[in-house]
Amino acid sequence: MKIIVLGPPGSGKGTQAVRLGKYCRVPHISTGDILRQLVKGKTFLAKRVKSYMNSGKLVPDRIIVDIVSGRLAEKDAKKGFVLDGFPRNLNQAEILEKLAMVKDKPKVFNLKASDKTLVKRISGRRVCGSCRANYHVEYNPSKIMEKCANCGGSLYQRDDDKPQAIRNRLKVYKKESRPLVRYYAKKKMLVSINGEKTEKEVFSSLIKHLKK
Ligand SMILES: [Zn+2]
Repeated sequence: MKIIVLGPPGSGKGTQAVRLGKYCRVPHISTGDILRQLVKGKTFLAKRVKSYMNSGKLVPDRIIVDIVSGRLAEKDAKKGFVLDGFPRNLNQAEILEKLAMVKDKPKVFNLKASDKTLVKRISGRRVCGSCRANYHVEYNPSKIMEKCANCGGSLYQRDDDKPQAIRNRLKVYKKESRPLVRYYAKKKMLVSINGEKTEKEVFSSLIKHLKK
C-alpha cells in the first residue's frame, strides 16, 4: 500500500497520514519529522540542513529527495508507506516517480478545505511554553483557562499561527501544490477528499477510497 497525502496546513494531513499508516501497517514517513530529527545530529548533512532552516530558506529538493529515498530504501518501507510532506512540488514528484521503489502507482489523496476553515483551525492552536503540549481553543481546549492542563505552564500562539502568517503560508502552499495536483490528476492517481469534515469522517472517506 503506497499512499501520498497532500493538503494545506490545517487540513489535517499529518493526523490522517499517521492514522493511515497505522491502519495499513506501513510506516508513516513525514519529511518534517525526519528533518527535525536529523538536525539534532552532528553530521555534515545535519549542519547543511540546519543552515537552510535557520536562515528561513527551504531545504533544496536535491537534499530532500536524498533523505526520502534513503528512508524509502529501508526494510520496513518495502511493503508500502504513507508519505506526508513529500513530494512538495512538481520537481520532487518527478524524481519520486523515477525512484525504483515506486514501481506501482501510489494513491494520492488531496485533502481540501476552504481558506476560512484553515485559518480558523490554525489560528486556534495554542502551545504550552513549558512542556510543548498542543491545544486548540475550540477543538481541544485546556481544562484550565489559558494554562496548560499537564503542567500549569502558560499557553501561547506561535507567530506562524497568526492569521496574516497563515495566509502567507497558504499562498506559498497553493503556488507549489497547484502543478503537483494537476500532475497527479492527469495521471489519474488523485483522489480529492473533503477535509472540511471531522477527523473521523475524513478518515472513513479515506478508507472507503482505499478499498476501491
Ligand atoms: Zn505544559
